Amino acid sequence: MSSDKEPLHDEPQALDEDAGAVSRRRFLKGVGAAAGILAAGVIPAFASELVASPATKGAEAAAGESLVPGAQSSLARITEEDGSINYPGKPVSYADPAGDQKWAMVIDVKACVGCRKCVYACVKENNIGRNSGFTYINVMEMEPGTMELESGTLEYPEGGSSEKWYLPIQCMQCAKPSCVYGCPVKATWKEPDGIVVVDYNKCIGCRNCMVTCPYFARHFNWVEPYVPKAEINPKVPLEEKASVVEKCTFCVQRTRNGGTTACTEACPVGARKFGDLNDPNSEVSVLLKTRRVFRLKEELGNEPMIWYVG
Ligand code: SF4
Ligand code: SF4
Repeated sequence: MSSDKEPLHDEPQALDEDAGAVSRRRFLKGVGAAAGILAAGVIPAFASELVASPATKGAEAAAGESLVPGAQSSLARITEEDGSINYPGKPVSYADPAGDQKWAMVIDVKACVGCRKCVYACVKENNIGRNSGFTYINVMEMEPGTMELESGTLEYPEGGSSEKWYLPIQCMQCAKPSCVYGCPVKATWKEPDGIVVVDYNKCIGCRNCMVTCPYFARHFNWVEPYVPKAEINPKVPLEEKASVVEKCTFCVQRTRNGGTTACTEACPVGARKFGDLNDPNSEVSVLLKTRRVFRLKEELGNEPMIWYVG
């Protein structure tokens, strides 16, 4: 265990019996601005309106053009820019990027049924401490007819409801990751394939990255994470994650070995599509070209690599 690392801060707040409520308040505070953006119509204000009509979709797809104004130039810009902030000499224990992939995800909020199978698969795959009090993925239950996040909740009965719609949120693997800019010791950086990683041995637990992440996608581990011995994934750090900040890595241990993310694999309704934006024929590339998509908090300029469609 990383016994030489002491928590730098106050007593844990997210691990008592009110943990869900605490994390929900924090979560809403973080993503609430997105609701304002949506309500203001900067992006389409209602999820069902985001679906391209079949006729338009077919025409645009045939023409090879995006339905989203500026999407292609934006993607080209991302591809050019995000290689410049890599941290040279990085000690990362995962395999190097296999090629010139640019990983991205598209989540279909109309398909998502809120079952949280992605959450549980992620916990298992990524050695998230069963005692840590957080998950890398949060699924928000939303009221029909609104994208007002303040009216949503993270606490809803298992299985979800057909009367609601669901918005899964996790690290967006931003092309311009403000978390990286916020780290004083360069313990986190963006890899050439777009994945934002953390060196858990280098992280000093200052939590600046948590402050600078607008998606509240980073989580400080107040405890030595406990995972039942039989469930430990040897391909993912565990002991190193005590008293440091951890996050989703698009399952770097899988995706650099030809696999997909655990959440994508676990989703029973295929709501998650993961793939390479540099491959024009990948599912994500085709979706971005042919469907109306949106991203959360787009006005902040982080250029999230997770889009939503629905
Ligand atoms: Fe960093 Fe947050 Fe963006 Fe993830 S969502 S890359 S943690 S700024
Ligand atoms: Fe939604 Fe799929 Fe996650 Fe279930 S597994 S909550 S359907 S994204």
